[in-house]
Amino acid sequence: MPVKGRFAPSPSGRMHLGNLFSFLLAWLSARHEGGSLVLRVEDLDPVRCLPAHAWQLMEDLEWLGLNWDEGGDVPSYWQSNRSHLYAAAFQTLEARGLTYPCFCSRLQRLNEAPHIHQVSPSCPCAALTPEEAAQRTKEKTPSYRLRVPHKTVSFVDGLQGPCSQDLAADCGDFPIKRSDGAWAYQLAVVVDDAAMGVTQVVRGRDLLSSTPRQLWLYQVLGLPAPEFYHVPLLLAPDGRRLAKRDADLDMGALRRRFSPQELLGLLSRMAGQQKTAEPVSAAQLVSTFDWLNVPREDIIVAPELLS
Ligand code: GLU
Repeated sequence: MPVKGRFAPSPSGRMHLGNLFSFLLAWLSARHEGGSLVLRVEDLDPVRCLPAHAWQLMEDLEWLGLNWDEGGDVPSYWQSNRSHLYAAAFQTLEARGLTYPCFCSRLQRLNEAPHIHQVSPSCPCAALTPEEAAQRTKEKTPSYRLRVPHKTVSFVDGLQGPCSQDLAADCGDFPIKRSDGAWAYQLAVVVDDAAMGVTQVVRGRDLLSSTPRQLWLYQVLGLPAPEFYHVPLLLAPDGRRLAKRDADLDMGALRRRFSPQELLGLLSRMAGQQKTAEPVSAAQLVSTFDWLNVPREDIIVAPELLS
């Protein structure tokens, strides 16, 4: 089956070096196999996500020579236009008795931070009878959680190797819909990767712990799961993870200081694809790309990148 990779940015700010590192590897991996890529805009959160950031991100990727074959500015590839698909998946789960309404107020916050692994606390709402739940729904709009069993989900990550989690102990019943009606990242990403025929997910290692929950959703929804590669995060010299707030390493600042080839040279050395940081185009890296040379551990940003 031909490889289909994806870029799945959340347009909540200017792309930074860490996003770019993951996108470069996603692009190289798909292109090396002669595969295609989808660009899906993950704008589920209407407060944090702005179309202007998505347009800028696409322009930044084009500047770097990282192209895609589907999606991008096509409205149906923006998650804010795909609610009907998440609602249909939710109904499937609900019809199978796998969801329950939750009236606890902490859920909203849990759902906003997929990059930070948190075990969903055991919830008293799991034990409510349908009558009790219906009664409480009249007073408060609930969130919904997916009921998970004590089951170990194991998989082999293409870069990190064998991984496993006990769903109940390591994840807990996790939110799939917020009380304000917003769909959870975990549900949307699974529905979309399956609907778009994605076969290969390359993303930051901070999402490794979400993968067993997503594999469980693929299984209960009867959808084919992609293969996963979780790539290292980039760290500041003090060991801190780079974030969108590190404005000196966002694309605006980087584009003022480097040409696309210079930036790709530095990134490809960090990614183990070149011995030196010699300037290079994205296309020149495709034929020699090799996952075996990509480091597994988080990487301190090359000193040349720090102004
Ligand atoms: N939209 C997520 C982000 O920008 C990535 C989700 C994923 O790759 O599964 O962090």
